[in-house]
Amino acid sequence: MRIIPITLPTPFYIGPVNVYLIAEDPVTLIDTGPKTKEAAAALREGLRNAGFLTADIRRIVLTHAHEDHCGLAKSLRDEAKNAEVLVHDWETGHRIGRLEHEEHRALLVRAGVSDNEIAGMRRIYEHVRLYGDSFAEGEYRALTDNEELQFASGSLKVVHTPGHTPGSCSFVREADRTVIAGDCVLKRITPNPVLSPDPIDPAKRFHSLAEYLVSLARLRTFAPTLVHGGHGDSVNDYDELFNRYVRAIQQRQNQVIGLLPKSGASAWEISRALFPETDDVHRFLAVSEAVAHLDLAHSEGKIEMELSGAKEIYRRPGVD
Ligand SMILES: [Zn+2]
Ligand SMILES: [Zn+2]
Repeated sequence: MRIIPITLPTPFYIGPVNVYLIAEDPVTLIDTGPKTKEAAAALREGLRNAGFLTADIRRIVLTHAHEDHCGLAKSLRDEAKNAEVLVHDWETGHRIGRLEHEEHRALLVRAGVSDNEIAGMRRIYEHVRLYGDSFAEGEYRALTDNEELQFASGSLKVVHTPGHTPGSCSFVREADRTVIAGDCVLKRITPNPVLSPDPIDPAKRFHSLAEYLVSLARLRTFAPTLVHGGHGDSVNDYDELFNRYVRAIQQRQNQVIGLLPKSGASAWEISRALFPETDDVHRFLAVSEAVAHLDLAHSEGKIEMELSGAKEIYRRPGVD
């Protein structure tokens, strides 16, 4: 099975994104890059270098529905005469009418984010979503965990690896233990556990970091020899990365607990103490990071949480 990485420019802080061409029947593209002229041109060139045209694509599979990964999916699908699009049902970023504003807003209010800040985050998000087209129901099919995507010379197993987003998926070629992991595994940085509503009960918060740790451990059971991530170089030593990630998460948790003042603090206050320099979109990612670590510490019984009005306040036990 020929897995050909194609790296595309993005207008985002993260830098270029990797998409993967599976160069055999049915010709499949895993992720697409953002909807920009530059990414579309680079993708066309990458396909051409591999001996393919956009029209040859029969299947578009998305690791997750962030604009840097899914933005071109709809236009490619149309150009490739209705290639099949597959994405996990717990993703929402690609859907038309994903009116989750109220749910997201409620999560941010609970995290202690002010109305002003929420309005600023929304403006940025409205800009980011211009880098992707949305699908109507029926224009894509849901990926299911453990499903085998069949190819002429073998298959790729779909492994649901929630964490970065609720519906993030990885694709495992068991024959040689190669994994395509999207933003679940990035060589140089630990992926952000993005603040999301729980897909089963949107009034609740998705426990992104706890889920993420399970996903990392699950990928480990495949004893990967090569992991292709959504950004940056591939990973040859998954065990080293796994241990490094777990250590980094542990250290960040200790830092977050250490930052909690006697009087307690909201996730927003902790995010400002963690990342005082951040502005615009990074404030949302910073509060996501704080919430994820506070949630995990709380579920492990290391800190206490109580509601103060609509806001959650975290405290170290025994400190009052
Ligand atoms: Zn992402
Ligand atoms: Zn990404």
